[in-house]
Amino acid sequence: MRITCPLCGERDRREFTYKGTARAIPALDAGVGPWDDYVHMRDNLPGAIDEWWQHDMGCGSWLMVTRNTVSHEMIAVVAGEASGLGLAEAQAQAEDQA
Ligand SMILES: [Zn+2]
Repeated sequence: MRITCPLCGERDRREFTYKGTARAIPALDAGVGPWDDYVHMRDNLPGAIDEWWQHDMGCGSWLMVTRNTVSHEMIAVVAGEASGLGLAEAQAQAEDQA
């Protein structure tokens, strides 16, 4: 399996770490319910899904990979901050509170 990092180009999957299903991140002050759902509840459906991967043996970027979980076809890869799922907002909120 090969993943094309937007910064580094096509690399072997072993350079990346799977980080879970890509879903909208709750606001930091959303409370226990939304965070419990986000962390623990998964649909685990077959077919094309969005996933978080980190290029931890390369540039370190978080990526949103659209992958077919049946065929393992890599359909699309975008940088995490361009995913529109709130990663950039969550990072900015965390930095504001530090
Ligand atoms: Zn990279």
